[in-house]
Amino acid sequence: MAKKVLKFGGTSVGTTERIQLVAKIIKKERSSGNKIIAVVSAMSGKTNELIGLSEKISDDFNRRELDVLLSSGEQVTCALLSGALTKLDIKAKSWLNWQIPIITEGDHANARIINMNIEKINNYLDEEGVAIIPGFQGISKNGDITTIGRGGSDATAVAVAKIFNADSCEIYTDVDGVFSTDPNKIPVAKKIDKISYNEMLELSSLGAKVMQSSAVQTAMIYNVPLEVKSTFTDRKGTKIFSQENIDYTKSVTGVAYSKNDAKITIIGVEDRPGVAANIFEPLSKAQINVDMVIQNISSDQKTTDITFTIKRDDVIKTKKILKNNKKIEYQEIIQNEKVAKVSIVGAGMVSTPGVTYRMFRALSDEKINILAISTSEIKLSVIIDEVNTLKAIKKLHTIFELD
Ligand code: ADP
Ligand code: ASP
Ligand code: MG
Repeated sequence: MAKKVLKFGGTSVGTTERIQLVAKIIKKERSSGNKIIAVVSAMSGKTNELIGLSEKISDDFNRRELDVLLSSGEQVTCALLSGALTKLDIKAKSWLNWQIPIITEGDHANARIINMNIEKINNYLDEEGVAIIPGFQGISKNGDITTIGRGGSDATAVAVAKIFNADSCEIYTDVDGVFSTDPNKIPVAKKIDKISYNEMLELSSLGAKVMQSSAVQTAMIYNVPLEVKSTFTDRKGTKIFSQENIDYTKSVTGVAYSKNDAKITIIGVEDRPGVAANIFEPLSKAQINVDMVIQNISSDQKTTDITFTIKRDDVIKTKKILKNNKKIEYQEIIQNEKVAKVSIVGAGMVSTPGVTYRMFRALSDEKINILAISTSEIKLSVIIDEVNTLKAIKKLHTIFELD
């Protein structure tokens, strides 16, 4: 008998019929004698719909109240799933974030789970009940409801698996597992049977939303093995675990892309110590996440151009902050809001020479211009014009033999 955490994402609980299907999966697990904690997302589209409602009230909706609003999506799924299990004669009960409680730290919309009370739920599991927990949320030390970032039900599942010392953490979703690239974009993408935390972390941080990156990070730190699998098929999923156990035959494991990036260039900035700090400090204080940074070598030793990428939603705020920044002098700011980041990821890259060159050559063969580059030991990312995204992913997928 194992203690299992089963997480069901938005599409898996997107309709009442699907919730009934999820209840059947849980029933099967219970019949095998396993103790089940189910972590659920809001029904697909619900969280976006709630954000839309808040935007109708205000474009600067109160952050505390936004978390109260957004957390309600998961509450609906919890109750519906509990009802569906009861209908199948399975003992089940849902808890809201504050009833458990799930304690979080950090800002609204971006909190982290730090602890959870396990006693009541463990007692319930001992009494052969299925415990249902809402993903994506918690409660702060001073009692406010918080959410933990988009896609955060994955992080809830990992935290629950760790805190409850579960034997497994299974992420049920709408694809068969983790693929070499998004299978909904590139149909020849191949399912990966096993992947290391490191590679999965890179893939998800670089845009593969099949796993939320902070969930992977927590799983890696606490060594919580994960399995990503489909709610709708019985096919074997993808196992995510520590690197030692994986045998690398390919240099590149997967190709990821991120949407909604933008590139800002500050032209003619004074070239002296402290300038970069003066530019980026106020952006960081405003919670603007700067991704790649490139500084050109100045030809006249006096001025330089600094280029960086951010999320497209942050462009207006970023430009406003730069324009109001009295500590910097420059000639002009230019922007390109239609860029994408395409990355190759693979733990085998370290030991394979020529990967960088092959990527650049492949993109040039497709006449795709590279606007910025960033590398780490196991990934290589380029910024390109957004219109070329699909072409680039397809080409890279082919040349690195992932089709
Ligand atoms: P859930 O609602 O279950 O959390 P998500 O929509 O967050 O599901 O994540 C699953 C989606 O991730 C898939 O439908 C797929 O389009 C997308 N995806 C992107 N990259 C990958 C990848 N490398 N492997 C599998 N799915 C991917
Ligand atoms: N419902 C939340 C979201 O859409 C959390 C999740 O689905 O993981 O971001
Ligand atoms: Mg998700």
